[in-house]
Amino acid sequence: MRCPFCGADDSKVIDSRLSAEGDAIRRRRSCVECNERFTTYETAELTLPRLIKRDKSRAVFSEDKLRSGFLRALEKRPVSIDAIDSAVKGIVRQLIATGDREVESRLVGDWVMDALHELDEVAYVRFASVYRSFQDVNAFHEEIERMKSRTEQVTKE
Ligand SMILES: [Zn+2]
Repeated sequence: MRCPFCGADDSKVIDSRLSAEGDAIRRRRSCVECNERFTTYETAELTLPRLIKRDKSRAVFSEDKLRSGFLRALEKRPVSIDAIDSAVKGIVRQLIATGDREVESRLVGDWVMDALHELDEVAYVRFASVYRSFQDVNAFHEEIERMKSRTEQVTKE
């Protein structure tokens, strides 16, 4: 991003956030040459980072795939489509707000876990068992313990 003050080609992103309308990303940047700060707006579509998979291959992030993942995890569960849509939107926002061009797909998986945990605990455990590819019953048990302590944290607040 070219600096509007000195014309240098390089700048650092110091803050990224989604605009109130949710259709653009607002970035505060600092010029590496003259240190002046300026703001840029970019459309959200262009800034969705690619995903880095476990095997280091890259994939395009798909909101549709994310939504169908949620639908599958929440099949026959008492969760409204509105709640699912806002969870999907929340993850897209987080993804954009990283300001990175590439993001570990594991990170997105963690956000999905957090969202599911809030939506429905049964679906959360169901998804966790697949996501973490549990090798044995102990690992599964640990996950349930972890889930319980998270719930306790929430209720204490
Ligand atoms: Zn500059």
